[in-house]
Amino acid sequence: MSNTGMTVQQAIDEAHRCMLCHDAPCSVACPGGTDPARFIRQIRFYNFKGAARTVLGNNPLGEVCAFVCPTEESCVGACLRAGLDRPIDIDGLQAFAAAYGRRVGLKAMQPGPEKGQQVAVVGAGPAGLAAAAKLVQYGYAVTVFEARPDLGGMLRYGVPRARLPIAVLEADLANIRDLGVTFRPSAPIEGENGALRLLDEGFAAVFVAPGLWKPYRLDLPGMDAKGVSTAIEFLATGLTDPHAAANLVRDRNVAVIGGGSVAMDVAHTAKLLGANRIYSIALESMTELPAAEREFDSALAEGVIFKPQCQVTRVLVEDGAVSGVEGVETEWIEPGKLVPSNARPIEGTFFRLRVGAVILSIGQGLTQAAGMMAAAAGKAGAMVSVDPETQATKVERIFAGGDFSRGAGTVVDAVGDGKRAAAAIHEFLTSKGVSA
Ligand SMILES: Cc1cc2nc3c(=O)[nH]c(=O)nc-3n(C[C@H](O)[C@H](O)[C@H](O)COP(=O)(O)OP(=O)(O)OC[C@H]3O[C@@H](n4cnc5c(N)ncnc54)[C@H](O)[C@@H]3O)c2cc1C
Ligand code: SF4
Repeated sequence: MSNTGMTVQQAIDEAHRCMLCHDAPCSVACPGGTDPARFIRQIRFYNFKGAARTVLGNNPLGEVCAFVCPTEESCVGACLRAGLDRPIDIDGLQAFAAAYGRRVGLKAMQPGPEKGQQVAVVGAGPAGLAAAAKLVQYGYAVTVFEARPDLGGMLRYGVPRARLPIAVLEADLANIRDLGVTFRPSAPIEGENGALRLLDEGFAAVFVAPGLWKPYRLDLPGMDAKGVSTAIEFLATGLTDPHAAANLVRDRNVAVIGGGSVAMDVAHTAKLLGANRIYSIALESMTELPAAEREFDSALAEGVIFKPQCQVTRVLVEDGAVSGVEGVETEWIEPGKLVPSNARPIEGTFFRLRVGAVILSIGQGLTQAAGMMAAAAGKAGAMVSVDPETQATKVERIFAGGDFSRGAGTVVDAVGDGKRAAAAIHEFLTSKGVSA
């Protein structure tokens, strides 16, 4: 991935490597419908404005996605040029096109003719933002209710700035604001009937996308000691109050419990804030770790010490604060079944590490407010159940998407959900003639 800024000549040269494939697999593979084949062709023919229009018009978070998408699993992973030498640098070209659009003040999205109906969106993360932008383009008046003081969801409070510069997020947000979306920050929707209440208040439909913000914890001795934190709390503090986050880890050894991409972000942030030795302790083996390859590679390069197939059994506490962790090595009872209940300790493998901070990075679930909305909208298992074609829940006029309905996913998946829901809401309100 190269998003450090291509020159015009580099962009043209890279676009010339594209084979202009029929039924381009790169475009088919994008869950957000960004259409790489089209913008690459436009760059190749010096139509930079057209390329910017394709990126930013198709995907309301088009510039953000150029920086955060795990493209090796989507467009770049599908690129046929890889069969000849190496895939096209789609992220680099996307960032180039979006930055061009920003420089020339391009308005790639326009509000549609007013429909006289209001739609509510719960959550200003990628799913909610994409839905809001698309709904305004269909002509609806959209109000986004956001629990936190600022917009962007995990993009603002979770993803490290080294991966997503704040200016890039602000650029996409400015385009969405300019469309005329009404944002209500610090306005959580709560209670069992939170989403239904919005219908009663006159909204013709509601799109619910509050994400996953309740960090999972472990029930172990010492977990309430000073110095134990969770990934979401630590990363959000690191982004909004770096001094407070630094106080937790500076000059200390840190045990990050977990081996996924979020754990790698925690390790990176702890390093940046002055931590000494950083351990990533996970139940998986080195080849099973769930972290994306590039995040795992950067963690290795930053000197993170991996303790694979290990389990922390106790947090050691001195004077109320973390002083270490104890644990054991583990093995899978049934090979290939990577769930905590399938891990068993191996006798005689006890270990103890001196650490001054423990950061749990073992996933997130629904907060109480989100859980109540999920229950009201028809919860199946841990998440709310939706029709994958339309994002419709079991409750008429309530749609849902993003991490709230699919579990921990990616930004572009959430964007895809938001766009799909907006189209389905439009279709529903048009065909039913529902009036607010
Ligand atoms: C640390 C971290 C790094 C990540 N890095 C990447 C990456 O590099 N690339 C990638 O593709 N994906 C990444 N992801 C995943 C990605 O951020 C999520 O999949 C995506 O943000 C989900 O979007 P969403 O809109 O469903 O939810 P969120 O982004 O979680 O947004 C939900 C919004 O709803 C708000 N909300 C919650 N409850 C309520 C309520 N009751 N009322 C009103 N508002 C509410 C929240 O405050 C939040 O703003 C990362 C995730 C984390 C945690
Ligand atoms: S798959 Fe690769 S080579 Fe083919 S159109 Fe897409 S970017 Fe170009």
